[in-house]
Amino acid sequence: MRRIEIITRESTELVDITDKVKEIVKNEGVTSGICVVFTKHTTTGLIINENEAGLRSDIIALLNELIPKGRGYMHDRIDNNAHSHLRAMILGSSVCIPIDQANLMLGRWQSILFVECDGPRKREVYVKVIP
Ligand code: ZN
Repeated sequence: MRRIEIITRESTELVDITDKVKEIVKNEGVTSGICVVFTKHTTTGLIINENEAGLRSDIIALLNELIPKGRGYMHDRIDNNAHSHLRAMILGSSVCIPIDQANLMLGRWQSILFVECDGPRKREVYVKVIP
């Protein structure tokens, strides 16, 4: 199991961790298998999509629109971040990528994006390479 540290700077932010995951897969020396990327946080998500500035803004705008902050959520009574948990829930907490010939089988436009939903914070993502 390997760990990636991520420092986020915004309340909602997308961070491309593709290169870090590729580096881990390379160092593990696995030529064929599965790479699992997992976040242990309840207010972050992991997605695979295109890392393009306009799309990154569109994704953040969609999250704001679908799950606005402070809409009378029960959890806001104790923590004031219910929207962060709900956004993380719809994004999901892990992604799996097949490994073939020692490479992650990502499509040309696919990147692994960590989604901060309650930043800024110091975060940790775990990577497990399974032969
Ligand atoms: Zn909370």
